[in-house]
Order: sequence, then structure tokens, then C-alpha cells
Amino acid sequence: MKSRWDEMYVRTLSSELALRAYSSRLLGLEEDLVLHGGGNTSLKATVNDFAGDDIPVLWVKGSGADLAVINESGFAPVRMRTLLAMAERETLTDSDMVKHQRAAMLDPDAPLPSIEAVLHALIPLAWVDHTHADSVVTISNAPGGDVRLREIYGDSVLYVPYVMPGFDLAKAVRAVLKGRDVRRYEGMVLLHHGVFSWGDTARESYERMISIVDRAERYLENQGTLEKVVSSPTRGSVNPHALGELRRQIAAVAGVGMVARIDASEAAVGFASRPDIEAICSRGPVTPDHVIRTKRTPLVLPDTEDGAVIAAHLAAYVEEYHSYFGRHRRDEIELDPAPRWCVWQGRGIVSFGRTAKDADVVADIARHTARCIQVGEALGGWGALPEDDIFRMEYWELEQRKLRSKTARPELEGKVALVTGAAHGIGRAIVLRLRELGANVVGLDRDEAVIDVAKGREYLPIRCDVTDGGAVEAAISAAVMTFGGLDLLVSNAGSFPPSERISELSDVHWEQTLALNLDSHMKVLRSATPHLCRGIEPSVVFNASKNVLAPGPGVGAYSVAKAGLTQLARVAAIELGEHGVRVNLVHPDAVFDTDLWSPELIASRAKNYGMSPEEYRRRNLLKREVRSRDVAMIVTRLLGPEFAATTGAQVPIDGGNLRVI
Ligand code: ZN
Repeated sequence: MKSRWDEMYVRTLSSELALRAYSSRLLGLEEDLVLHGGGNTSLKATVNDFAGDDIPVLWVKGSGADLAVINESGFAPVRMRTLLAMAERETLTDSDMVKHQRAAMLDPDAPLPSIEAVLHALIPLAWVDHTHADSVVTISNAPGGDVRLREIYGDSVLYVPYVMPGFDLAKAVRAVLKGRDVRRYEGMVLLHHGVFSWGDTARESYERMISIVDRAERYLENQGTLEKVVSSPTRGSVNPHALGELRRQIAAVAGVGMVARIDASEAAVGFASRPDIEAICSRGPVTPDHVIRTKRTPLVLPDTEDGAVIAAHLAAYVEEYHSYFGRHRRDEIELDPAPRWCVWQGRGIVSFGRTAKDADVVADIARHTARCIQVGEALGGWGALPEDDIFRMEYWELEQRKLRSKTARPELEGKVALVTGAAHGIGRAIVLRLRELGANVVGLDRDEAVIDVAKGREYLPIRCDVTDGGAVEAAISAAVMTFGGLDLLVSNAGSFPPSERISELSDVHWEQTLALNLDSHMKVLRSATPHLCRGIEPSVVFNASKNVLAPGPGVGAYSVAKAGLTQLARVAAIELGEHGVRVNLVHPDAVFDTDLWSPELIASRAKNYGMSPEEYRRRNLLKREVRSRDVAMIVTRLLGPEFAATTGAQVPIDGGNLRVI
């Protein structure tokens, strides 16, 4: 590992806190040092408070902040006096420690301080860095790990036996530091956990961290362990139906919707195809803090796509999880027993999470774990901490408290929704509402504007002409391969053609109108059905039209298409009921804030009814304009749990129409 220190850049920084953020980001840039909120850093300084007093504080990373992107606002100023007073205590629960840390913050708007703040306070140097370096932890986890580490570092660092992070670890560190001249050391190695480095300057502490990690990496290289990491000559191949089946079964065990992300890279397939995979995956995580995201072990599946075989392996995993809980429980609430990652022989690694982001965090940890396990195996045998230590971390009081507080999660979190005609108008409004409700959304549209409807990894835009059956099939496969399945479908794409009386209708207009407003919906539903049948509380909403119930002159082709669509949805509700797939319809009318409606078209339609454009916009019983957002609110409600007992329903969204009522 090489230093990334840039002295020229450092000279542009205006404060010590900015420098603290900078060198923290340098650590965060190295995936082999910290992953997703792992690790923490601090700076001891004096802050002048409102009353004008100089208060010694520890600027410490906020809990859960990501070192890779941290800036000054990611640090909390905590009174040193309180932290050191806590360190003197013989016992303190982690919940009380967190409470006192919070009370000792000089800025109540700062993030909550890291759980390791007391430990940082104990180190008598100004700059302290802490990472969970893969190389150091891997050596620590190997047979004779502590002896190997002493061979590498000798007396240049201190050694702390494994103690769970929190107050007990701070106490253990206090005992190790006691009576020692800490300045004589570059840092300390926490066995099975990570590394601390320190210094009088930001650079000294940072360079020491890099040097400590570099020595461990070179040791692993010299031991010939790195070439033992296997890689497959080819990428893995997984059928979207098999991936969907795996996700369905995992979500059923978890009791909530889950996103599944597949890593079919050569490295993942190489790992998954090792003949010793079951044995090496059964021993535990790289560092105990991973267990909160990944559980202690992954599910190992054979090279099969057979749902019954997957079910049998999952059942065995769940049974083992229950007995693990039984072996170690005191008074904890059992977490759901579903695995968070799966090693699929010959195919790769699948990671699960409530959101795409959560699943990606698990995927990153899994990728590093696969590598560390193989290096550890080459060092004489991968061995993690004893089960009980892992259990104590997984069932940590602070994590359990989160469970008891039961904060509400977004209603559609973990669900995967697909919306056609997503670039504009009603489709766009539905995508945005689904995202507000936490769903992962795939937006289909032939217009490239679909790309910008939403941002982030929970949104997948696909340019697709839904009248092309092959393109639809490919888009739905891509959706399933991205999120692991499909639960919610909003078949919305449509167009409103110019007025044309039947006597004037051209064959081309008739066919085009039916192709988009009717045929495409059949193609989308046909391709989506096998995935919906494996979906989580699956539900479909078709966007039809008030014209079905109350047709008007000049829209023959459109009304026929929407009437056909209504009949298609009713038959689908009958056919798919036995698979638990609900199918409902909405009949919006006069939604003018969409691209379908130009002022000329409104004027022309108004004329057909003998009205002014303004009268035409509000020509309903409620005298109210119907907006895309109104339609989106109802469509997402129909998709959601309130309508769990409703299928085959048709809901008008028209402000009230005598001909419909
Ligand atoms: Zn740590």
C-alpha cells in the first residue's frame, strides 16, 4: 500500500479540521482499509465555546459516516473531560456511553460520535486513525496470527486481544496503555478487529497507518498467499428465473422484500467453485462488525437452478441459524434468519438487502471476505473469532435497541417495480411516487428523457419501444438481473391520437393506436408474468381510460384499444389470482399536465363537446383538474398493501362523471 499524501493540496487547506477530513478521505479511498462506514479517525483540539471558554475536545468521526467522502461536518466535537471520565469507570453499558457522548457534544447539530470515541480520547496524541485493514485482520485470523503479527511488527506497535467494540474495548485499551510511553509506538493492532495509528501531525499518523498495512501486505505476498486466490476463466451465468426464485425464497424467510444483486465476475465464480467452499465459508466473517450486515456465514448453494434444491439448502441454513441463536441467546430478540449473501457454486455470489444500496454494501463486503478467506486459507487455515464473539456483535445492545424502537420503513422498500411510459406525464409521476415509497424502480420508455426521471442505484432506466416484443422481453430480463425479481408492474405507456371520426380513420392510424395502447400491454404482461408469479406481494395496475366507460366522438381507435386493454386486465386478474398476482385498472380522464395534451388538442377536443378549453379542463362533477400526481397516488395505493384483497377492480380518476357513475 502506497501513501497518497499530497503536500501541495494540504497547503490549500484552511483549518486543522479540514486536514482531519482530508487524511480521513485518503484512508477511505482504500477499500482494503475500510468499507462502508468502517473505521474512524479523530483529532484533539481546543474549541472556544459561546461563553468564551477554551474547551478541550475530541473531533471524532460521526457514527456511520463514510470515510471515503467525509468532510468537516462529518465530525462531532465531544468534551475530552467527559470522555476521559467515562474511561475511568469500571462498568458502563454501551447505551449509557452513547448517551453521555451525546450530552458532551459542543454542537448538538453534529452527527452522533463514533462508538470508539472513548478509545480515541485515551490515546495521548493529537491525531488518531483507525481502520479494519484486510491484510492485518487476515493475518490475525490465521493460525498463530498473533505470533505472526509480532514477527512483522515487533515492538513498534502495541497488541490488544479481541474485545467487542464499545466500552469494554476502551477499557481493555486503557489497560494496555497504562504505564506505557505511547509515543514510543506507531500504533496498535487490535486482534481480529483492525489497526490504530497515531501521531503529532496528520501526516505522521496517516503515513504510519499506510506503513503498518504495507508491512502486512508484503508479508502475505512473501508467504505466497496471493497467488492462491482463485479466479474462474469465465464469468458465471445465471438465468433470471432462477435468480428470481432464489430471491423469492430468501424474502419469504426474511419476511420482507429484498433486492438481490449478483456478482458473476471471474473472481466471484472462482471463489464459489472451490471444492472446499462449504468448509471455508462456515467459519465466520473477516471482522465482527461485518456480521451486522452479512450474518455470520453465507448460504452455500450447489450448482443448480432447481427451486426444491434451493429450498432444502435454505431450510438447513435457517435451522442452523435458529440453533446458533439458541446456543448464545440471553434475552435478545431473534433477528430474521435469512442469509444476506449466497455463494452459488459455478455461478457467483448473490447479495441481499432492503435497498439496492444495502445489497451493494453486502456485495462489497462479500467480495473482500472471499479474498480474505482464500488468503487466510493459504496461510494455514482461515479461522474467524469464536461463534459467541460474533453473536455478541450481531446481537449488540445498540442494534437490539434499533429493533425495539421499530422505526417505520418506507412502505414499498425491498419491492421491485416496473413502469412503462416512464419518461413523462403520468408514468413519470408514478416513478417518482414509487421512489418516495422506497421501491426500486425500472423505468421503460423509448424517449431518452427516461434516464433523468430519478437518480441513484434504486432506479434503472431502460430505453425500450414497448411495441417490440423482443425488446420488452430483454428489458424485463435486465430488470430482474439488476434487482433480482419483479413485484409490481404499472403498464402505462400510451398515446392519445388526434381526433378522427370512423369515416376518416386510416388503417395506419388504427393499427398504430392499437399497437401501442393495446398490443404492447399484452407483450409487457406476457413477459412479466413468470417473474410476477415469483414476486413479493405481486400486483399489476393498467392505465386504461375513462373512454372505456364513457366514450366520446373522434377517438374510435383509442377507445377500442383501451376497452380491449380493460378486458385483457380482467382476464389477467382471473388467470393470475391463483398465483397471488393482483390486477387492477385505473380510468383517468382529462389529465392535462402530460405531454399527450397540447393546447391545440385540448381546443379540438373541447370543440367536440361544445365547450371552451377552460370548461373542458374541469368538466367533471367536482369541477377539479385531475393531475398526474393524483393518478400516481391512486396507482401506488392499488399496488400497495391496503388493496391486498382487491383484484379486477376499475377505479375512475376523473373528478366525477355522470356517465361513469
Ligand atoms: Zn473498529
